[in-house]
Amino acid sequence: MNIMPNRMDRGFYAYQQEFEQKALEVLRSGWYILGKEVSAFEQEFAEYTGAKHCVGLANGLDALWIAFRLLNIGKGDEVIVQGNTYIASVMGITMNGATPVFVEPDENYGIDVEKIESHITERTKAILVVHLYGMASRMDKIVELCKKYKLKLVEDCAQSHGACFNGQMTGTFGDVGCFSFYPSKNIGAFGDAGAVVVNDEKLANDFRVFRNYGSEKRYHNKVVGANSRLDELQAGMLRVRLNHIDEMTDEKIAIAKRYSEEIKNDKIILPKLAEDATCVWHQYVIRCEERDRLIDYLNNFGIGTIIHYPIPPHLAEAYKYLGHKEGFLPITEHYAKTVLSIPMYNGMTKEEQDFVIKAINEFS
Ligand SMILES: *Cc1c(COP(=O)(O)O)cnc(C)c1O
Repeated sequence: MNIMPNRMDRGFYAYQQEFEQKALEVLRSGWYILGKEVSAFEQEFAEYTGAKHCVGLANGLDALWIAFRLLNIGKGDEVIVQGNTYIASVMGITMNGATPVFVEPDENYGIDVEKIESHITERTKAILVVHLYGMASRMDKIVELCKKYKLKLVEDCAQSHGACFNGQMTGTFGDVGCFSFYPSKNIGAFGDAGAVVVNDEKLANDFRVFRNYGSEKRYHNKVVGANSRLDELQAGMLRVRLNHIDEMTDEKIAIAKRYSEEIKNDKIILPKLAEDATCVWHQYVIRCEERDRLIDYLNNFGIGTIIHYPIPPHLAEAYKYLGHKEGFLPITEHYAKTVLSIPMYNGMTKEEQDFVIKAINEFS
């Protein structure tokens, strides 16, 4: 059997007719950027998350950097973020000239809320929470800290579409919830796409103006903005996905449940959920001290895996200028050396799941 870590084709074929019908509808409409599909998606996605507003953007990185730009966070400011995130989270901070202040993760791979306070300084302006792998972070503690120190709260929900803390959806706890709809995400487009959800009407409007060259009215440019528009085709595809998101998420939860119940191997550490949090299993991430040997072993069975992520941002060449050395974040660095994402995707057959479980159980 040959099992890839992710199969986006399966997600397409599950709803092929609906995607093809919507694509044709958009192609034949003669209107391709910022139109009725985008508006409808924005409304539907806001409703889905429980936020007041949604603004469609070109991708998830734009959602992040434009969020910090519009919150006036830049040079001289510090933003607290977990060390073990995807580098895009950090770039969202540094593209505006602000400095990321890294905090170690807890055992659920989210930011360790007990370690945040000691990193807050006079320059701290915001906390960026990343709901990594689809697990909601401990938002009660984070919201409390943001109130206490008057910090902005931005959520990176690129992996957490639909994940909740205490029944409230990720992305709606703070000032801005940033989403990516990159094809492999839980709600994936067929190209690049992103969005923010916000409750503040003025801020929502700022995003709408900024994404289109800073113009509210055509050729009347109020600010130096960006081109970060969501196109009609992607918005149409995302509406189809959104219609099926609950069944897609339930399917992933069922696969994760099997993994968690049936993978039994002393060499493997399974993912754990925080109290009051749900997980939408963007990735199913295990840990193994002999990770590289496990990768080869699984490869021999035709089972593909991915490391999310092998180099933590503070050790990336891009962030050499921050001056962090190996050993600066021991937990983050240990995770980078031991985490492994095993196959997890919509449309994964029972036989494929059995095969993965059996192979991992027999790893010795
Ligand atoms: C995918 C991802 C992003 C960036 O999204 P793009 O649409 O690729 O720009 C940001 N943060 C996290 C955690 C991601 O997984």
